[in-house]
Amino acid sequence: MVSAYDLPADQLYIAGEWRQGRGAPIRSHFPADGTLNRTLHGASVEDVDLAIDRAQSAVNDPAWRGLRPHERAGYLYRISNGISEAVERIAFVQSRDTGKTIAETRALAMSAAGTFRYMAAALETMEDTLTPPRGDYLTFSVHEPLGVTAGITPWNSPIASDAQKVAPALAAGNAILLKPASWSPLVCLELARIIEAAGLPKGLFSTLPGAGSIVGERLVTHAAIRKVSFTGGTEVGRGIARKAAEKFMAVSLELGGKSPTIVFADADLDLAVAGVMFGVFSSTGQSCIAGSRLFVQRRVYDAFTAKLIAATKRLRVGHSFKAGTQVAPLIHADHRAEVEDHVRRALAEGAELLTGGGRPTGEEYDAGTYYLPTILAGVSNTARICRDEVFGPVLVVLPFDDEADVIAQANDNEYGLACGIYTADFTRAWRVGRAIEAGTVWINTYKQFSIATPFGGVKESGLGREKGREGIRAWMSQKSIYLDMSQRPHPWAADCLKEDGA
Ligand code: NAD
Repeated sequence: MVSAYDLPADQLYIAGEWRQGRGAPIRSHFPADGTLNRTLHGASVEDVDLAIDRAQSAVNDPAWRGLRPHERAGYLYRISNGISEAVERIAFVQSRDTGKTIAETRALAMSAAGTFRYMAAALETMEDTLTPPRGDYLTFSVHEPLGVTAGITPWNSPIASDAQKVAPALAAGNAILLKPASWSPLVCLELARIIEAAGLPKGLFSTLPGAGSIVGERLVTHAAIRKVSFTGGTEVGRGIARKAAEKFMAVSLELGGKSPTIVFADADLDLAVAGVMFGVFSSTGQSCIAGSRLFVQRRVYDAFTAKLIAATKRLRVGHSFKAGTQVAPLIHADHRAEVEDHVRRALAEGAELLTGGGRPTGEEYDAGTYYLPTILAGVSNTARICRDEVFGPVLVVLPFDDEADVIAQANDNEYGLACGIYTADFTRAWRVGRAIEAGTVWINTYKQFSIATPFGGVKESGLGREKGREGIRAWMSQKSIYLDMSQRPHPWAADCLKEDGA
């Protein structure tokens, strides 16, 4: 049973006040039926500047700057509890905003609560170090806040990706300004309500929905912003990295992927089929880590593919709020048109359609942005469908002969975000896992996550890591302090202190 809640009003949380944005209106639609959720006025450049200005004062105020780690952690615990208490409301708003199934948005909200709780606990147990001295002094390595920071997030899992930026940024003692994607502007306002109720000093957190080219650009280029943590597409990330270099700003980039999943002939095929399906078709494929290139060992290729096609045809495509839905609508009609283009191009390139390849038919699907889980085959790893990120429920299957062949094919790609390996041979799983160029490798599973385990990509999939204890350090500046213990003038100049003839 899904409860309905009021959607957030047309107000942004800027510099500790609720106010209408002065930027262009943004329209959030419910992808399952196309109804308008809310017209929300986005932030303007003036709004961004106001938020930055207040954040600078707030971050330097002793009321925040002077807090001990356990006191700062107190705010994060309260935010975590606030999210836990509002899971149903957050899930509802996020499903309306993104079309994701309510089961998934509940899980994302709970994961956001877990992120704040973990970062609070990590903060309380974080230590600075006393490093080995090479003279008569003590040396300390300490970590300090960066100052005013920004998080820029995509539309696919907003509450979870927002939490992954806001929680460590605050834990580290910063202020953070959050810019969500324009297709999913609403759920960050729920987070703002919770953060406000937790009593976080005003100005430390603002929500700035708006166009990437205006709001995002201003955040990235403003001199006062000391770090941008970006999750989104590779090309936008590249542009942000260039601008960050101009002002030597810290940047973390969680970008796209075209992740390989490898099924060896000795794998438990049922387990592998379920893992492959979950890896690419859950979240309707709108996932950076989607296992969208499948390599199956030639000996079991036909048997495995037949099983996979049959099981995929049984996936329940349906409304975001319908119990049991596995594949919900895509976020937006424009995005579905892009997914359709990818499939059309693949077919023109000579791909064979094994299942899907179109919209589901029936009255219940007419108003929503649905697309069927799709499997393609018959192309080589150099085909565009094996290179381009589709960000939809589209899988391409390729055969391979042996370990060396599959490692070469899997690594022959611009991206390096994740990889799945299915085999009964753990030594092989280890060997192949170590040889694959990716930030995360799953063995006999896929898309498992722990806030305690670092996450990020290599190659065109990004730079830097989020999560884990080190995830807080990524929002801090390290400082070395030498404390003299000799209490004597330096011998190099000591003679000069003596008066003539003394
Ligand atoms: P996107 O790159 O279009 O937008 C992401 C965010 O950047 C949005 O908030 C957008 O408004 C903003 N933006 C756009 N132009 C900007 C600019 N010039 N300056 C500053 N900000 C700007 O991505 P999307 O379409 O929202 O999301 C899909 C992409 O995100 C996919 O490529 C996916 O792989 C990636 N993604 C990566 C991860 C990861 O952790 N690696 C997770 C989720 C999504």
